Amino acid sequence: LTSYRGRRVVVLGLARSGVAAAKLFHGVGADVIVNDKKEREQCPEADELTALGISVVCGGHPEGLVTVETALLVKNPGIPYSADPVVAAERLGVEVVSEVEVAGQLSPAPLIGITGSNGKTTTTTLTGVLLEAAGLKPLVAGNIGRPLSEAAQEVAEDGWLVAELSSFQLKGTSDFRPRIACLLNVSETHLDYHGTMEDYVGSKAKLFENQTPDDVAIYNEDDETCRFLAAKFKARRMPFSLTRTLSQGVMVDPPYPDVRPGEDEIEAERWIVHRDEDRLEQRIIRVDELGIPGRHNTANALAAIAIALAAGAEPRKLVEPLRDFRGVEHRLEYVGTFGGVKYYNDSKATNPMATTMSILSLPSPLILIAGGLDRGSDYMELLPVFRDRLKGLAAIGQTREKIGRVAALSGLTSVKIVEPVDNAELTLRRAVEEAAAMAVPGDTVLLSPACASWDMFPSYEVRGRIFKQSAHTL
Ligand code: ADP
Repeated sequence: LTSYRGRRVVVLGLARSGVAAAKLFHGVGADVIVNDKKEREQCPEADELTALGISVVCGGHPEGLVTVETALLVKNPGIPYSADPVVAAERLGVEVVSEVEVAGQLSPAPLIGITGSNGKTTTTTLTGVLLEAAGLKPLVAGNIGRPLSEAAQEVAEDGWLVAELSSFQLKGTSDFRPRIACLLNVSETHLDYHGTMEDYVGSKAKLFENQTPDDVAIYNEDDETCRFLAAKFKARRMPFSLTRTLSQGVMVDPPYPDVRPGEDEIEAERWIVHRDEDRLEQRIIRVDELGIPGRHNTANALAAIAIALAAGAEPRKLVEPLRDFRGVEHRLEYVGTFGGVKYYNDSKATNPMATTMSILSLPSPLILIAGGLDRGSDYMELLPVFRDRLKGLAAIGQTREKIGRVAALSGLTSVKIVEPVDNAELTLRRAVEEAAAMAVPGDTVLLSPACASWDMFPSYEVRGRIFKQSAHTL
C-alpha cells in the first residue's frame, strides 16, 4: 500500500469499512478524501476522520471528486456502479475496488473466503470456532461485523483471516485470492442490486478466479449453480454434500434422500464423513450430535468442517466444538420453553426460502409468526410448508394480509392477522400472545418472518430481541 504515499485516494461511502479504509490509506501517507451523499449530521463517523486530518465531504457527490490524478477509488459495497463518481472513475481509467480487495493485499495471514446466498454468517462463525479449537489462530471479519481491512492488520502471520463475503463485496475485487474459498449455495435473491442472475453468479465466481492449484475450492455438490461454477475452478476441489456419496470431500453417510428434510427421518444413524483424495475415509461426528438444528445447518456444518480440514485441523479436535456450537443469535435460535411450548427466534429469515428451511427444521405442531416489509412477492412458495407443517399463523407487518391469504389457501384455519397497534413493539407482543393462545404444551412457536424488518423495526436484531423479551414475559 505504500505505493499510494502522496497520491490521491477517494473513499466512497462513510460506513465502517469506509472509515477503516480511509485510516489505512491515511496511515501510509496517501492524500485521502472521503465522500458520502448523506448529510454531515447523518455521518457520525466524520468527526473522527476529520480529527485525523482526513478530508470528509458529505451531502452529495461533488463534481470533480475523481480526476485523472486519482490513484484509487475505494467503493462501499452498497453503492451502485451507476453512482456519478464510480462512472467518472471508470471513464478516466481509475481503479475501483472494495475495501475487501485492500484487505486481501494487506493480510499477512492466508485468507479463507466464505460466500453464498444463505448461511454465510452461521458457517463463518462456526469456521472461526473450529479453527480456534484446532489452535489455528483465526480472526473472523468481513460482512460479519468488523471491517476486513481492520482485521487484516491484526491477524497473526501464522493464523487465518476468515472472511464472510457478500456478492457486493466480491464484485469490487480484482486480485483477491483466498487460500481456501467456500461457496455455500446460490439462490435468486439480491437481483435488485445486481440486475441479472449472471452478474450475481459472476460476483460469487470471483472468489475463485485468482486461485491456483495450491489453493482449495470448497463448494456445495447439492447445488446446481455451485456444480456448474466448480467445473471452472483452478484450485483443488473439495465438495460437500448432504445427498451424494462423493469420491472425495465431506458428506453425510448414509446420504439423505433430499436436501429438504422429510417426515420421520432418523438422524442418529447418519455420520458426517471426510473422504480424502486417496479415498481414505474418516468419521467426524454423528449428525444428531451437532449443536445446531436443521438440515440447512447440517449443510453449513459440512462446509465449516471442510474448511477446517483444508486449513489443517485435526479431525478429533472438531467434535467438541461441533457439539457445543448453538448457532448465531436470530438464526433458528432456541429462546426457551414457556408453558410447555418451545419458542424459536429466526428473525434473520428475511426471505421465503429461509423461512421454508426453518419450518422444515422444527417439529410440528408449529405456530408461525411471519410478515414484514412488502417487496412485492406473493409468498405463494410458502403454501406447501404451510399446508404440511403449520398448526397456526399470526401475521404482522405490511405483508400480513398477503401471508394470511397464503395460509388460508393452504387450508389453515387458525390464522390471526395482527393489526398494528400503538407501536411496533406492542404489535409484535400481541402476535406472540396470539401465537401462545393457539399453542398447547408440546407445540412450537417460531418467529421466521420471510420478510425484512424495516416496515416496523430498525433491524432484524431489534425485531428478534423484542420477540425474545415477549416470550420470556408471557
Ligand atoms: P446469511 O449470513 O447468508 O444471511 P445466516 O447464517 O445469517 O445467513 O442465516 C440466515 C437465515 O438463512 C437463517 O435464519 C436460515 O433460516 C437460513 N439459512 C441458513 N443457512 C442456510 C442454508 N445453508 N441453506 C438455506 N437456508 C439457510
